[in-house]
Amino acid sequence: MKISILLLFIFFTSSITAFPHFFPNVSSIPPSLLPNATAGAWDSFHKLSGCHSGQTVPGISKLKNYFHYFGYINSNTFKNYTDDFDDGLESAVKNYQLNFNLNATGELDEPTVNQILKPRCGVADIINGSSTMNSGKAASMIGHSVAHYSFFPGMPRWSSRRRDLTYAFEPRNQLSDDVKRVFGNAFTRWSEWTPLTFTEISNYNSADLKIGFYGGDHGDGENFDGVLGTLAHAFAPPRGLLHLDSDETWIIDDVFASGSPSAMDLESVAVHEIGHLLGLGHSSVEEAVMFPTISSGVRKVELARDDVEGIQVLYGSNPTGNGTTGPTFGDRESSGAHVGLPLLVHVMFLVIGLTLFLL
Ligand SMILES: [Zn+2]
Ligand SMILES: [Zn+2]
Repeated sequence: MKISILLLFIFFTSSITAFPHFFPNVSSIPPSLLPNATAGAWDSFHKLSGCHSGQTVPGISKLKNYFHYFGYINSNTFKNYTDDFDDGLESAVKNYQLNFNLNATGELDEPTVNQILKPRCGVADIINGSSTMNSGKAASMIGHSVAHYSFFPGMPRWSSRRRDLTYAFEPRNQLSDDVKRVFGNAFTRWSEWTPLTFTEISNYNSADLKIGFYGGDHGDGENFDGVLGTLAHAFAPPRGLLHLDSDETWIIDDVFASGSPSAMDLESVAVHEIGHLLGLGHSSVEEAVMFPTISSGVRKVELARDDVEGIQVLYGSNPTGNGTTGPTFGDRESSGAHVGLPLLVHVMFLVIGLTLFLL
């Protein structure tokens, strides 16, 4: 009894290792945080670029762990991971490439390694061996007319009697109103397309959806990994848990969060994870908020058509909205960060515009 109380105490004091870092924008991040923040959890995968089947290279075992974590390597197939680039790894790489719209070469070519290195959601792409992204769909089904959104196995969702959901924040995080407002905005992204409503309550234990920032091992078997790497994860209905990595540098206010090698836009990650709380899995549509990776400095908060179609399969549309006059899809936020549009292109347009103006 005493031991279990002690263990419980250790768990509660160790699972929140530090208060998460929030900054209104990139320029307000103190320089002291930046050098530390540029070394991401998966940086060592850089050196595996060019590796292919038949080779033995130090670091391959760590990559196998990565693929295992995200569902690409079945745990029964590999007990002790070696540094051999074997058939199992080759097939994992191929499935990964299919899911992320890359050439399915089975080799760790540069585009594949670059994709692997991107910070991402900790929820697996393949659950119980069945992929819901591209690799799980017949080749002939992959096309513009085919939906890419997905659900968790068994398609869990909140029941039709539960349309008004409550959410609360982990009290020990002591989050400011500014941070809470970011989540409020993220919930609205989903409620405007569905019959669902989301109301914040103060009683954490009785809320349907529980949001908290945690570091490392925090008791659910899904450990966070420090700066970058996995950013957050959330559980399918009806568990309602949304966890974010307290070791990230989170930006809460910037409309155009660019320039930092490591700062993550909080609302973008929150919108994605709420999708999981409601029952959506990952999508292979890069513009969708349910795409598994997001680069640092990128803001992606508008639901894409794929996200909306997926969530409306689960809950139907917003009865007070009207498909044509309601919110619009994805790329309307052109004044902010355009999804996936590199900063370089923005700068290029600015220079061209300025030149034309001066002429
Ligand atoms: Zn996810
Ligand atoms: Zn967790």
